[in-house]
Amino acid sequence: MKAALFYGPGDIRIEEIKKPIPGRSEVLVRVKSCAICGTDVRIFKSGHRAITPPHITGHEISGIVEEVGENVKNIKKGDKVAITTEVGCGYCKYCLSGRVNLCNINRRAIGYYYPGGFAEYILIPGEAVLQGNIIKLRNDANLDEMSLVEPLACCINAQELIDVKFGDTVLIIGAGPIGCMHIELSKLRGASKVIIANYQSKKRMELARRFNADNYFILNEIDIRKEISKITKDEGIDIVIVACSSPEAQKLALDLVGIRGKICYFGGLPKNAFLDNVDTNIIHYKEARLMGSFSSNRYHSHTAINLIENKKILASKYITHKFPLDNIVEGINIVMAGDAIKVVINP
Ligand SMILES: [Zn+2]
Ligand SMILES: [Zn+2]
Repeated sequence: MKAALFYGPGDIRIEEIKKPIPGRSEVLVRVKSCAICGTDVRIFKSGHRAITPPHITGHEISGIVEEVGENVKNIKKGDKVAITTEVGCGYCKYCLSGRVNLCNINRRAIGYYYPGGFAEYILIPGEAVLQGNIIKLRNDANLDEMSLVEPLACCINAQELIDVKFGDTVLIIGAGPIGCMHIELSKLRGASKVIIANYQSKKRMELARRFNADNYFILNEIDIRKEISKITKDEGIDIVIVACSSPEAQKLALDLVGIRGKICYFGGLPKNAFLDNVDTNIIHYKEARLMGSFSSNRYHSHTAINLIENKKILASKYITHKFPLDNIVEGINIVMAGDAIKVVINP
């Protein structure tokens, strides 16, 4: 089968490798769509601590079941499926409460520890099959759209944690696909005003306009503090979601959050990037709350599928480019340049 192998920073090679044969508890899936995530771009640029090259990356996967092991009863050949990423130990308190994304005993994600979706076929390991990582879709599911289940699930996790409510004013920093999903989810949850802000990339901001936020700000061009005090009549922002990997944005969130407001750090920072000189008294005096969100669990994936199936989230609006596997590096470069919302690879 054809696969895109990551050999190291800047080095992805399309190679012919052996098509896996599923064991008794395993499932082989013909990958139809695998979307490129910001993390895939970061891996391409500088590698990843959980990935030992050569490795097949890609974790936003949908496809059609090709072959099932004899012990697998709930899935059959021909089923359309979405694959969730996180595999936990199954026994720690986080796994037991469904939060496999936070398993700290033995977390092994598909696309990181296990080979991912940038290949014609993916072998789903027995423990992932048992934990429900293969989600059966409706027969009429659009598999390109369903490759967006994983990023949408991660946004749903964040939205639940930060608990956007009716009437909230929400500020999202970062206008990539994650920022765009947060515009739509915040509105679905009843936010009155959704503001999106981004550093530099004007192209990205133009693409984000299709999601109808109330305000779009390029941070380098305006005084965001002034704009926010105008919009909120000096009350400040109820919810700030930092959907980018920038210490500057994390700091700005502390500044702009209103009294009793909440901040979610959705994006992780690059290695060795820290928040210096943070005045934590901001949090103290405002009674503000600061939280993180990381990845998602299967419940969030089911919710994401539900929202896409019922057209509460129009997944097709996010897909700006599609490429065959041979052109994966071109796809990554387009994401890196900020010229795309979502790029889907069709292996
Ligand atoms: Zn992702
Ligand atoms: Zn665990």
